[in-house]
Amino acid sequence: MTPNSVDLAPADAQLPRPWNPMNLLMVLALWLSTLGNLPLWGAMWNLTETHGLRALLGLMGFALIVLSATIVLLCLLVWPSWRKPLGVLLILVAAGNSYFMHTYGVVIDPTMMVNTVQTDVHEVRDLLSWSMVWVLALGAALPGWWWWRQPVQKMPARRLAGRQLGLAALAFLLLWVVVWATFQDLASTMRNQKSLRYMLNPFNTIYASARLVEGQTAQARMPLQPIGQDAVMARSAGAGQLPPLIVLVVGETVRAANFGLGGYARDTTPQLRQLQNKGELAYFANVSSCGTNTQVSVPCMFSHLGREAHSKNDTPYENLLDVLQRAGMQVLWLDNQSGCKGVCDRVPNADTRELKDPTLCTDGECFDEIMLRVLPERLAQLDNARSGGKTSGTVVVLHQMGNHGPAYYKRTPTEMKIYQPECTSKVLQDCPAQNIVNAYDNAVHYTDHLLAKTVTWLKTQQRPTAMLYVSDHGESLGEKGLYLHGMPYMMAPKEQSHVPMVFWLSKPLQSRLQWDAQCWKKMAAEPISHDHLFHSVLTLAQVKTKWQQPELDIFAGCAARSPQANHFRQSTTATVPTATPRHTAAS
Ligand SMILES: [Zn+2]
Repeated sequence: MTPNSVDLAPADAQLPRPWNPMNLLMVLALWLSTLGNLPLWGAMWNLTETHGLRALLGLMGFALIVLSATIVLLCLLVWPSWRKPLGVLLILVAAGNSYFMHTYGVVIDPTMMVNTVQTDVHEVRDLLSWSMVWVLALGAALPGWWWWRQPVQKMPARRLAGRQLGLAALAFLLLWVVVWATFQDLASTMRNQKSLRYMLNPFNTIYASARLVEGQTAQARMPLQPIGQDAVMARSAGAGQLPPLIVLVVGETVRAANFGLGGYARDTTPQLRQLQNKGELAYFANVSSCGTNTQVSVPCMFSHLGREAHSKNDTPYENLLDVLQRAGMQVLWLDNQSGCKGVCDRVPNADTRELKDPTLCTDGECFDEIMLRVLPERLAQLDNARSGGKTSGTVVVLHQMGNHGPAYYKRTPTEMKIYQPECTSKVLQDCPAQNIVNAYDNAVHYTDHLLAKTVTWLKTQQRPTAMLYVSDHGESLGEKGLYLHGMPYMMAPKEQSHVPMVFWLSKPLQSRLQWDAQCWKKMAAEPISHDHLFHSVLTLAQVKTKWQQPELDIFAGCAARSPQANHFRQSTTATVPTATPRHTAAS
C-alpha cells in the first residue's frame, strides 16, 4: 500500500495508511490458502491424470473452496485484541505443517498432534535441519513480521463485528455455491484421497487440537478403571523352584520388510537366525501393529481392548502390567526411548536414556544395550525392595530406541555399521534411497544383536526364562514418496503396520509350562496382531483372569496340552462376566 500523499498531512507522509481490518484478513486468507498450503496443491496437481482445462477448473474450484472457508474461519476467530499474535501463529502453523508434510510425506491428524505435544528435546533435535530453518524463515518469520507491523484502522466494536460477520456470511455463501457446483468431482476425490483432508492448513491443526483436548478432558473426567481384579497365578513356583523371568522387548520403528528372518534379501538378523536354526526361536511372519506411531501402539499393545476398541476408547483403563503385578508378579519397565506413554505409571520403571556410560552413551543418548547393562542391578533392587514375600515371577519390559528416525545412523555403534554408505542427513530426501536403507538396516542389525545378547544373558540366569520381541509399528523409507510413519491407520501403507515378532523360550520354562516344543508354530504363520499380546503374555506368565480371551492367545494351542491349563481355560470361557469388554481380533 502506498500512502496517499493528497489525503495525508506531511507529517504522516512516511507512515503507511492503516489497513481496513477486512482487507487485512483477506490478505491473510489469501496467503494461508495459497503459499500456506503448497503441499496440498502439489498433491492435488499430482492426483489429476490429465493436466487439461477440466483439471485446471477443478483445481480452481477447490482453491475457491479453501479460500472462502479460510475467510469464514478468520472472520470468526480473529478479533482486535488478539489479531496480531493469532495471525502470526496461523502463519507459523501453516509453514511448519507444510515443511513436515513436504519433507516426510506425513499428514496432520489427531495422533500426529499427540506426537507433537508429547515430543521431547531428543526428537526435536533429530528433526532440526537447515532446510527447516529456511522454510520457517521465509514461510513464517518474514510474513509473520509483515503481519505484525501493519497498522490497522480503528473501528467501533459493533461496526467491526457487523462487517466481519457479514464478510463471513458472504464467504460462506460462496463456499456453498462452489461446493454445490463441483460436488461430483470433489466428493469422489475426497473419498478416494482421504489424506487430503489432513493436509488442509490450518484446518487440520485446529481439528486435531480440538480432538486432542476433547479426548484428554474425557479421560481426565473418568477415574482409572481397574481390569483383571480376579488375576491370580495359575500355578505358583513349588518348593525349590525358581520363579520365571520373562523379558518383553518393545521394538521401535522396525518394519517386517527389512527383518532378515522375514525373508528380506539382506540378512539383517544373522544372530537370531542362528537361534532359529537351532530350533530355539520362532519368528511370527504376519503381525500387524495396533497403530502407526508410538503414542497409539504402545498403550494399545498392553491394553486388553484391541485395536478397534482402543481407537475409539476414551476411558482410562489399567493394562497388562497392572494385571501381572496384581497377580503377584514383579514388573519392571526400562525405557531407552521417549517414555512408556502411561503404560508403566504404576510399576517400577527407569529411564536409561540419560545415563553416563562412557562406552554406550554420547550426547545425552544411549544405545539400547544400556538397558541390558543396568538390568541385573535393577532386578536386584526389586528383590531387595520386596519385604520377604515370595514372588511368582518377574516380567521386564525393555523399550528400545530401535530404528527411531529420521536419524537412523545415530542408532548403531560404529562397529555394527555393516551396510555403507549411510545417510547422515535428517532430511531423508537429500540422501540417495540406498543410503537411507543402509542406515535403517544397520539399526535392524543392531536390534538383532541386542535380542541375541538378551537371550545369551537369559541363558545364564538360574531361573526359567523367555523373551518376546515385537516392534511397535513400521516405517516408510520413501515408498510412494512417504517417509517415517504415523499415517492414519486406514490409509497407512503396509510398510508402517507390518511388524516383526520373535519368541524365544528356555528349556526350563518350557518344561515348567509343560508345553510341547514349537506348539506355537502354527500361529507363527497366521495373521495376528498387537491385539494378541495382552492375552498371550498372560498365558506365558501363567496368570489367570476372566479378562483373558483365548481366541487372542497365540499360546492357546500350547496351554491346551497342559491338563491344569486346560481346566482353567474351560472354567474361564464359561464364566466371563458380561461386563468384561470383549472384542474380536482385528488383525
Ligand atoms: Zn514408535
